[in-house]
Amino acid sequence: MLEARGLGKSFGQTRALNGVSLEISEGEIVAITGPSGAGKSTLLHCLAGVVRPESGEVVLDGRRIDTLPEAELTKLRRESFGVVFQFGELVPELTAVENVALPLLFNRHGRQEAMTVAAEWLARLEVSDCANQRIGELSGGQRQRVAVARALVTGPRVVFADEPTGALDTLGGEQVMSALLGAARTSHTAVVLVTHDNRVAAYADREIALRDGAMLAGVDR
Ligand code: ADP
Ligand code: ADP
Repeated sequence: MLEARGLGKSFGQTRALNGVSLEISEGEIVAITGPSGAGKSTLLHCLAGVVRPESGEVVLDGRRIDTLPEAELTKLRRESFGVVFQFGELVPELTAVENVALPLLFNRHGRQEAMTVAAEWLARLEVSDCANQRIGELSGGQRQRVAVARALVTGPRVVFADEPTGALDTLGGEQVMSALLGAARTSHTAVVLVTHDNRVAAYADREIALRDGAMLAGVDR
């Protein structure tokens, strides 16, 4: 469904990715692991269409996406991908429910429908009580749940998550992971997550270990 073929990317003298190839199936949950600087975030960003690789291809459902013009790539990201990145995807001036409704509004759904669907996703993530609070008033765990709801609300093909539990204690982290993966499994959404935490990687169907921009091995779980 989503395929990387020989991805390469450098930042100055640093070879962040050095020929990474992989294929992710519909509904599959994949963990990208490795030490700091291994290229995990760069790989995730290339797959998610926010960084363009210098060499190689990214292919979604048979269509090459890394060479699309910016406007088409943005449209494709909004329709097919959800992201839970570490920083900045929630808008602090908006309430929780407005944040979750935003991707639907970008995809031209009406406001009434967007707010109704957003409220349903907050309920699925068990954060209905925060619906009308602004992001700044929420705890870290509540924010993560809102971010997960926002990533899933459009019914994407793939959700990309960078250290989705990085800012949380273990119990809160496990609850967010369970919520993310449970919701993804019921909607057949693939999840690609970056983590250095083995307990988080243990939730995945498959682990892709990176060192110095290259894959060590695929470990089936
Ligand atoms: P992580 O180890 O979780 O990827 P980093 O702090 O290494 O976190 O990187 C966070 C983001 O900052 C990366 O996604 C990358 O785009 C950017 N970044 C990382 N290293 C550099 C660098 N040397 N110069 C500029 N930006 C960087
Ligand atoms: P990881 O997520 O595994 O920590 P990254 O993909 O963030 O690794 O980074 C891989 C390498 O590329 C690191 O050496 C990092 O410093 C470098 N890097 C990543 N993003 C940037 C950037 N925007 N500018 C400069 N260097 C970067």
